[in-house]
Amino acid sequence: MNAPIDKKALKLLAQYNSISQAYAGLKRPLEPYEQRWIDLRGVTTDEEFEYLKEHGLAFDPVDMKHDEAVQKCFEYVKQCKKSQVTDLFLSSFTSERLDCRSGFAPFAMMQTMPDHGFATSSAPDFCAICSAASVYTGMDVTDWNVNRYKHGSIWLLKVPYVIQFHLAQHVLLAQQKPTAEDFRIFNAILDTLRTADAKTKPKDLHKYLKKIEGFKATNDQCRVLVEALGIAGILETEEHKGYLTHFTNPGLAPSKSHSSDWAYPVDFWTGADGVNQKALEFWFGAYPEIQL
Ligand SMILES: [Zn+2]
Repeated sequence: MNAPIDKKALKLLAQYNSISQAYAGLKRPLEPYEQRWIDLRGVTTDEEFEYLKEHGLAFDPVDMKHDEAVQKCFEYVKQCKKSQVTDLFLSSFTSERLDCRSGFAPFAMMQTMPDHGFATSSAPDFCAICSAASVYTGMDVTDWNVNRYKHGSIWLLKVPYVIQFHLAQHVLLAQQKPTAEDFRIFNAILDTLRTADAKTKPKDLHKYLKKIEGFKATNDQCRVLVEALGIAGILETEEHKGYLTHFTNPGLAPSKSHSSDWAYPVDFWTGADGVNQKALEFWFGAYPEIQL
C-alpha cells in the first residue's frame, strides 16, 4: 500500500502553476497580462515550494538532453511490470491516488516508442521521431507532477522528457492490488464505453461516466482517463491507432478539427468504434474480475 500523502502538500501542489512561477521569477517589471495571470492563479512561495520538496512533490528545475531523456524512458520502463502498472491503475479508482493511475499512459506509449537518437527534422531543433527539443533547459517537472496527482495522467506534452519523469515517479510507488470495488467501477466504465451511442464523442463521456456509483472524477480527470485509454489502444479507431501497436509522433499527430485539443488517437473516437477487445485483453486479460 502507498502511504497517504500530506494533505497540505497535496493542496499546495494542486495550486502550483508553472507559468505563474516563470512570470514571478522574471527580473523585470511584468506586463499587465503577466500580472493578471499571477493574480488569477497565484504563486507558490519559496517556503511553500520547500514544503512540497520535503514531501517529495516538488523538484528544482533540471536540464536534460533529448538522448538522455529517451535513454531514461527505456531504463525506467524496464523497471515497470505491466501487472504492477495495471494494478496501480485499477486501484486508483477507490484509493483516490491519481498518481497511481498516471503510469498507465506513459507505460503504454513505451510499447512502441522507437529507441532513437535525436533525429533532425524540418522544424528546427525538434526531433523528427518524437517532437522533443534537442535540449530542455530548466525543465519544470513539478508542473508534470501536478498532472500526476491532480489529473491522473500525462497532459498536453507527451515527449520523452515528460514520459521519463512519469515513469521515474511510477517506479517509486509501492505495489497495490485493486479491490472488488475498483473492479466494479472499471467494469462499469467499460460497459458505458461499449454501450455508448454511435455518435458519442470523447467530450460527451464525462456526463455518462460520472453517473457510475463511486467514480469520482472531475471533467479534466475524466478526460485524461479517456485519453489514456486511447493511448493504450483501448479506445482507438480503424485508422487512428493507439500506442500499443503504432507509435505516432505526438507533436505531429493529426487532430480531428482545428478546435480539438484532445489527445491522439481518442480525438477521433466515437461510440461507433466501441472498445478494442484485443487491447483490452492485452492490458487486463489477466484479471478474471474484468469483463472482457
Ligand atoms: Zn526523438
